Amino acid sequence: MENCIFCKIIKKEIPSSIVYEDDAVVGFKDINPVAPVHILIVPKTHLANVNEINEENADIIAKIHLAAKKIAKEMNIHEKGYRLINNCGPDAGQTVFHLHYHLIGGKNLGSKIL
Ligand code: AMP
Ligand code: ZN
Repeated sequence: MENCIFCKIIKKEIPSSIVYEDDAVVGFKDINPVAPVHILIVPKTHLANVNEINEENADIIAKIHLAAKKIAKEMNIHEKGYRLINNCGPDAGQTVFHLHYHLIGGKNLGSKIL
């Protein structure tokens, strides 16, 4: 989608630190990391957020989870643990309206969600 920063990253029109790519998904370093590991995992197809998931495209969620597992293993945090976070809509603080999951780890994140 035009003017979508994550679509531009996927098409490599703007620089980013891509750590994972397959036919459906890209993973790249968050520009403003909140932990030693902070990767954004996005579908190559533009979807604004979880509200646009339906019966036809829901397989992308499984692909994102598979990518998360692989990236966590690659970054050697799969055994210590990590958090996979999705923000959907304004009340959740979503700022980029291209579906993405934050893969966060590399330190003890505590037991609280908020
Ligand atoms: P959210 O608040 O869930 O919409 O998360 C958007 C995330 O995208 C934030 O953590 C930003 O730091 C990150 N972000 C925004 N622009 C870029 C960029 N050009 N490259 C990497 N991460 C970005
Ligand atoms: Zn997009």
